[in-house]
Amino acid sequence: RAKSGGRARIDVFDANLRRQAMAAMRMEADLRAALEQGQLCLHYQPIVLLETGAIAGFEALMRWNHPDRGLVSPVEFIPLAEETGLIAPMGRWALGEAVRQLAAWQARFPRAVPLFMSVNVSTRQFRDDDLVGAVRDLLDSVPIPPSSLKLEVTESLLMKDPDECRMLMQSIRDMDVRISIDDFGTGYSSLAYLHKLPVDVLKIDRSFVRAVSMGESNAAIVQVIAGLATILRLDTVAEGVETADEAVYLRGILCKYAQGFHFARPALPEAVERLLAAEVCAALPAPA
Ligand code: C2E
Ligand code: MG
Ligand code: MG
Ligand code: MG
Repeated sequence: RAKSGGRARIDVFDANLRRQAMAAMRMEADLRAALEQGQLCLHYQPIVLLETGAIAGFEALMRWNHPDRGLVSPVEFIPLAEETGLIAPMGRWALGEAVRQLAAWQARFPRAVPLFMSVNVSTRQFRDDDLVGAVRDLLDSVPIPPSSLKLEVTESLLMKDPDECRMLMQSIRDMDVRISIDDFGTGYSSLAYLHKLPVDVLKIDRSFVRAVSMGESNAAIVQVIAGLATILRLDTVAEGVETADEAVYLRGILCKYAQGFHFARPALPEAVERLLAAEVCAALPAPA
């Protein structure tokens, strides 16, 4: 009896595994079709210069416009895209799309310092694909200053193979394209590496930004990261800024840029253009 119960459990287990595997395969096929049929799109979230409240640039964030499920979050499909290798063509599409959008906005909304675009690049895409070649081709065909393109990589990349990584990053920097470390503080990048790598921007993870204005340890952590950035001459972007108090605090510790729902949510180009026309995204109270 106990034996047959065990067998039954294994059958249930197998059935579950099979269902999961089938679901993953189905989603992979769907994702491949999505790329081919133009179901992927980019939303753009403004990144604001804290000193003035003006929009300085954007982060491009991928969405999947699913015929049945509606807008699917990248949290749901990027991991699968990475596992299956689909991230290579998807990432290349996103890079091209974001850069062409940036060129259009730079032409329509000229600024003393041109608007910038920050594009997420997954670790696998960074290492496996000819990213450097793709970026070079893009810069040859689309008229943007290379320095207005920023590639966001995560700390896990830096840890994988520091030497290979440094060479790749250097080739990107040689084109004058900039490199941001995304979700900074959540990984394990050693300070010893950081100053040897051609990094330009630290994006402070939103888990540290939350409630900074209320004191507590987050405020101290964010202050240390901002101080580190100053010493290493890096720019800082605070992610996930949701309140005016958080923004005022960040401005006070000389964090340069902020991004978050307080200023604007990621949105389609038409909505972003209305904000660009208005110049200031969300004015902060004047410094005391
Ligand atoms: P990320 O690069 O750290 O992007 C920031 C995420 O924070 C975005 O989530 C954005 O919508 C969200 N966010 C912005 N402001 C706030 C805020 O004030 N509060 C809160 N709670 N959230 C805020 P999203 O768009 O769902 O993207 C999730 C992640 O998916 C990204 O995290 C990035 O790792 C990945 N991702 C998105 N697009 C791409 C892409 O084109 N390529 C690759 N490789 N990864 C992407
Ligand atoms: Mg990012
Ligand atoms: Mg981030
Ligand atoms: Mg994040």
